[in-house]
Amino acid sequence: MTTEQRVRFGAGLRHEAGDEVERLGCARALILSTPHQAELAMDLAADIGAHCAGLFTGAAMHTPVEVTQAAMAHAQETEADCLVSVGGGSTIGLGKAIALRTDLPQVAIPTTYAGSEATPILGQTENGAKTTLTDPRVRPETVLYDAELVATLPAAMTVTSALNAMAHAVEALYARDRDEDTDALAMEGLRAFVDGLAAVVETPGDLAARETTQRGAWACGAVLGRSSMALHHKLCHTLGGMLGLPHAETHAVVLPHAVAYNMGAAARELAPVAELLGGDDPARALWDFAGSLDAPRSLRGLGMEEGDIDRCAAAAAANPYWNPRPVEEDAIRALLARAWAGEAPAG
Ligand code: NAD
Repeated sequence: MTTEQRVRFGAGLRHEAGDEVERLGCARALILSTPHQAELAMDLAADIGAHCAGLFTGAAMHTPVEVTQAAMAHAQETEADCLVSVGGGSTIGLGKAIALRTDLPQVAIPTTYAGSEATPILGQTENGAKTTLTDPRVRPETVLYDAELVATLPAAMTVTSALNAMAHAVEALYARDRDEDTDALAMEGLRAFVDGLAAVVETPGDLAARETTQRGAWACGAVLGRSSMALHHKLCHTLGGMLGLPHAETHAVVLPHAVAYNMGAAARELAPVAELLGGDDPARALWDFAGSLDAPRSLRGLGMEEGDIDRCAAAAAANPYWNPRPVEEDAIRALLARAWAGEAPAG
């Protein structure tokens, strides 16, 4: 593991993955992807050529431990000496899970905005339960942001993945351990998405705007890695873990409501969000921003049943993360009811 992360931006950079493998002093890369992105992994294998030891295309959402074990067996069989993960947070999570257990160096090539490549955080699932750990060994040594790869993201996923990243930054603004540096990094990430997101939705192949949004993804991921998570992430982890709701979409729906909940306790910290997006209410500004991009705005639309609100509120309040406003079950139930129905956020 290296303490400094090597981060490069540029259209077509994936073709330099083989050079990055060599730069790490490695010669046998195991390439990781989801089944959906197997073709991309095969193209990358052709690029890497003699330095490719094998492929494992079984990465899955929430990093199931049994998938990690199968991938590790493959790494051993192929005598891999490093990992190249090409994909979204699920694939990068698999690389991190293998690195935790083997210390193999990683080259991450992100194809979404989730930002996992920038953090020392790993979420894993075992026997249906998701746990999260922070360990410097899991953060990839090298990250290649290739704008051509996010250009294939469908518009809906572009928007929800970006809002997922922005949620990392918004929550960092009121984190218990925030400081001037994390504030600056969070605002850098948010600004990049505000600058680039509408353009990439309008013109998916606008590579300059795509790079702007990838710079946002890195900043939002990096600030997530440097500050602790609060109510927003707790709610998303609860909804994802208990109901299997889709990750990025859940972040997109919950964010304005979590901000509204915290406004009374963190108005000063959240004020820059409204300054950036317009208006004087950060929660409303985020809600309007999501609406302007046709993002999902209701948990009902993601498949949650109304009858699940009570038990999710109880679970989120039972074992809360630190939050600027105390986490009260009744108020969380009201928050979830509004988010479920697709109503505007209210404190
Ligand atoms: P994902 O990686 O699960 O990808 C979703 C689907 O989209 C997959 O089928 C994938 O193959 C496909 N896909 C990815 N990029 C594509 C592209 N450019 N074009 C077309 N299809 C593409 O989704 P995600 O939102 O990136 O990641 C979610 C996971 O990442 C969750 O498990 C979450 O917990 C984790 N995560 C971890 C951290 C961390 O710091 N540990 C941070 C953020 C997210």
